[in-house]
Amino acid sequence: MSQNAKSHTENHMLPVFARADVAFERGEGVWLIATNGDRYLDFTSGVAVNALGHAHPHLVKALQEQAAKLWHVSNLFRIPEGEELANRLCEVSFADVAFFCNSGAEAMEACIKMARKFQAANGRPERYRLITFEGAFHGRTLATIAATGQQKYLEGFGPPVDGFDQVPLGDLDAVKKAIGPQTAGIVIEPLQGEGGVRAPEPAFFRALRQLCDDNKLVLIFDEVQTGMGRTGTLFAHERLGVTPDIMALAKALGGGFPMGACLATSAAAVGMTPGTHGSTFGGNLLAMAAGNATLDVMLQPKFFDKVQRSSLLLKQKLASIVDRYPDVVSEVRGEGLLIGIKAVVPAADLSNALRNEKLLTVGAGENVVRLLPPLIVNETEIEDAVSRLERVCVKLSKARGAA
Ligand SMILES: *Cc1c(COP(=O)(O)O)cnc(C)c1O
Repeated sequence: MSQNAKSHTENHMLPVFARADVAFERGEGVWLIATNGDRYLDFTSGVAVNALGHAHPHLVKALQEQAAKLWHVSNLFRIPEGEELANRLCEVSFADVAFFCNSGAEAMEACIKMARKFQAANGRPERYRLITFEGAFHGRTLATIAATGQQKYLEGFGPPVDGFDQVPLGDLDAVKKAIGPQTAGIVIEPLQGEGGVRAPEPAFFRALRQLCDDNKLVLIFDEVQTGMGRTGTLFAHERLGVTPDIMALAKALGGGFPMGACLATSAAAVGMTPGTHGSTFGGNLLAMAAGNATLDVMLQPKFFDKVQRSSLLLKQKLASIVDRYPDVVSEVRGEGLLIGIKAVVPAADLSNALRNEKLLTVGAGENVVRLLPPLIVNETEIEDAVSRLERVCVKLSKARGAA
């Protein structure tokens, strides 16, 4: 046997992920087709990434056309497709400028650096600390695990990057107490995804906005997961009646192509002059084609009306499941198509049982199973998913009754 053949029988992937033993070779809308031909209903969307489902014709065409022309030129040169995407994102948001990168963590890094630089550029270089919230998730780089602040992500990686002060979610007094002479800003997810699909009241966000205005702090929204339509509006903060100074986007931004962005007002971005930040791949032509194509679809009239109708239908059907199987699931949470069902049984058991019924879901904190269908999911597919969930609830409920 050749060396090559041998390497195929062993797994040389760094084992940092607890992967399910299933692989897919094709996707069609909300469906994933496994290597053995089994069809799965994909309510993960690649963790809130494939917002337009798999193999969306408009995205496939845009990427194929771009792939035949030019992939990458670097940021040594102008990239008109990137200028176009930045203009479009700014037109539909609070922002004046956009920086493109390749992931959510990088988008958050840009936000963190920008907040610090904003204070420095305004003569307050001592203000570098950011207030963050318990249960947050901001990424896996050294700075973003420090911002995330959870021991399970920090353990064994040396002293956490300095400059993050964590307070309980929704505790305004704790925020006020945490503001000191070194505070630069506040970082929050409009709806915590990894943390268990939970959010404080809109009034809390309005109070944060006021605190930032009163104390010359920047407000940063991490919309890496919630942004690009996931919660039923293009950005989750639209529902809050509050705009941030800086915002991170990534997951669904390229519809499955890896990309991230840091959007900001020109006031917040004032210190980010040539040479202060950068990325080799960020804003690459393939990513820009994917981003523009994703926006083309999402900005079509009524796109979000349909997402909101799907959300309502899914939530109603889930509420009825919760009513009927209270020994398996206890609560439905979330906005738009970022839905969490709080499990009574271990969430991993529920998620595994759902996978056996060919419905794919994602775990989250607080024993929650996340349902993140592509935004293009239709009524039939929602009904199909809920009947799969019901079959699993019947089984798990029986198993508990027997135990
Ligand atoms: C996924 C996520 C990140 C990190 O994104 P990566 O692309 O994995 O680096 C950051 N913030 C939030 C809210 C996320 O959901």
